[in-house]
Amino acid sequence: EKTEMNMFLSQIITDFNTVYPTIMLDFVSKHEEVDLYVYQFHLTTAINNILDNAVKYGAQHIKIQTHTEDNYYTLMIEDNGIGIAESEQHKIFEKFYRVERGDIHNTKGLGLGLYYAQQIIFAHEGKITVASLLPKGTIFTIYLPLS
Ligand code: ATP
Ligand code: MG
Repeated sequence: EKTEMNMFLSQIITDFNTVYPTIMLDFVSKHEEVDLYVYQFHLTTAINNILDNAVKYGAQHIKIQTHTEDNYYTLMIEDNGIGIAESEQHKIFEKFYRVERGDIHNTKGLGLGLYYAQQIIFAHEGKITVASLLPKGTIFTIYLPLS
C-alpha cells in the first residue's frame, strides 16, 4: 500500500511505547513526507522484530533515524544493547541462527526474527545491514528503494 513513512513509523513507535514504556525511543526523520509502496503488515512485523531484539539484548535506549539517499530510503535502528561480535554479524540473518552466550544474556528464541525481517525486506527489493560493537550496541540499517 502507498504509505507515508513518517506517519507509518510514528504509529509503530507509539505502539511499541505502550508495550515497553520504560524503553527510551527517539525518532528523527531527516526529510519531509515520503510515500513508499510497502506491505504495511509485513514491514511492521520486520521493524518490530528488530525493536524486540534491541530490548531482549539489553538496550534501554533505541534511536530511529530515517534519510533519503540517491535511490534509497534508509531506516537506521540503533540500540545500546550488548552488541554482536564481528565474527557473528554475517550469520545472524540465517534461519535458526542464534549467538550462544554462557551468561545472563542467554535468552530464549528460535533464531527466526532477523531471518524473517530480511525476507520481508527482500520482498520490497531492499536490503538490511548490521554494524555492531561489543559491548556498546548495534545498528541495523534497512534500505528501501524510492519508487
Ligand atoms: P527469535 O527472534 O526467533 O525469537 P532470536 O532473537 O534469537 O529468536 P533473531 O532475532 O533472528 O533470533 O536474532 C539472531 C541472533 O542475533 C540473536 O540470537 C542474538 O544473539 C543476535 N541479535 C539480534 N539482534 C540483536 C541486538 N539488537 N543486539 C545484540 N544481539 C542481537
Ligand atoms: Mg529475535
